[in-house]
Amino acid sequence: MPSNEAVVPLGRARDPRDTLGRPMRDLRISVMDRCNFRCPYCMPRETFHDSYRFLKSAERLSFDEIVRLARLFVSLGVQKLRITGGEPLLRANLADLVGDLTAIAGIRDVALTTNGVLLSKYASELKAAGLARVTVSLDSLDPETFRRLCGGFDELGAVLEGIADAERAGLVPLKINTVIQRGVNDEGALDLAARFRGTGIVVRFIEYMDVGNRNQWQQELVVPSAELHARIHARWPLVPLDRNYVGEVATRYAYADGSGEIGFISSVSQPFCGDCSRARLSSDGGLYTCLFATHGLDLRAPLRAGASDEELLSLIRTRWTARADRYSELRATLRAGVAQEPKIEMNYIGG
Ligand code: SF4
Repeated sequence: MPSNEAVVPLGRARDPRDTLGRPMRDLRISVMDRCNFRCPYCMPRETFHDSYRFLKSAERLSFDEIVRLARLFVSLGVQKLRITGGEPLLRANLADLVGDLTAIAGIRDVALTTNGVLLSKYASELKAAGLARVTVSLDSLDPETFRRLCGGFDELGAVLEGIADAERAGLVPLKINTVIQRGVNDEGALDLAARFRGTGIVVRFIEYMDVGNRNQWQQELVVPSAELHARIHARWPLVPLDRNYVGEVATRYAYADGSGEIGFISSVSQPFCGDCSRARLSSDGGLYTCLFATHGLDLRAPLRAGASDEELLSLIRTRWTARADRYSELRATLRAGVAQEPKIEMNYIGG
C-alpha cells in the first residue's frame, strides 16, 4: 500500500493530527457559492430560487486571501488542492488563481470539480495556468433524466463537449462523478460505464448522501456500491485495484479486459472516515473539517483584521487537532437520535 508519510517529514506543529490521528493532506477550496445548475440533491430550486441571497463578491475571499490561506495549510501538511463551488467556473479569472496555487511550494496536485457546462470555454487556459486535471459531475446520459437531475437545463451536449475539450486540453486523468439514486438514474449506470470504457476516463459512482439539509434524503434511494458493482461486474468483470494514496475516497476497480478503471464512493454503506484527511474552505473563508459539518471556523475575519501568519496557523492547528468528525460512520445513530443542528450546505463548501 503506497503511503505519503515519507514525503513530508514534518514535526507535529507543522503536521498536526486530529483526535483520531488523521493528518491534513487535502484542502477543498470553494471559490463560488453560486451555480448555473439546480441539482435537487444539492441546490433544490425551491430553496435556491431567483431571489435567493448568495454571497456578494466582497464577502467571498479574494484570490490573494485564498492563496495566503492555502500556503498556510500547505505548511501544515496539505499537499493536494481541489477547487470547487457551487460551480467554480462561474468565478471570473479563475486561471489566475490556478496559476498562483500551483506555484505554492509543496503542492503536489491541483484539481477542479465542475458541472462541465463552461469547461469548453476555459479548459485550455486552466491547463496553461497549471491545472492538472478535472472531475466532471455527470449523473446521466439520458437527456430527460439529465435535465431532471440538474434542475431543468438542457446542457447534456455542452457537458459532453466540455469533457472532450478538457481531454484535448490535457486535463487528465479526467474523472466523472455520478451520484446514483435508486429509481432515478441507477438504470443508466451501465450506459455511463459503457460510454467511457476504453477512453481513459474514470467513472466514479457515488452513493446518494444526506448532504446539507434540503434534499429530503431517504436511505431507500441509496444503491449500495456492492449492488452496483455486482451489476457492472456481471456485464464486464472487474478486478480490485490498490488505492493511489491513504485517504483516497474511491474504491478502485479495473475492467478485467483492460478497458480502464471505475470507482465507487460509498460514504453510506462503507464509510471511510478513518483516514479522512480533508479540510474544506468555504467561499467566504470558513474552515470546515467535514462535509457534514454543522459549524466552521471563520478565518476571513482574522485575515481581514490583520492577523499574522502565526496567528492564523494557530487557529487552523487548534481547530484541526480538536477535530473528531466521522459523520458517515455515525450517520445511522445521529439520524436516529435527537434532531441534528443544520449541516452546512454543499454549494457552500463543495463536495
Ligand atoms: S463524513 Fe466527514 S469525516 Fe467522514 S469521510 Fe466524509 S468528510 Fe471525512
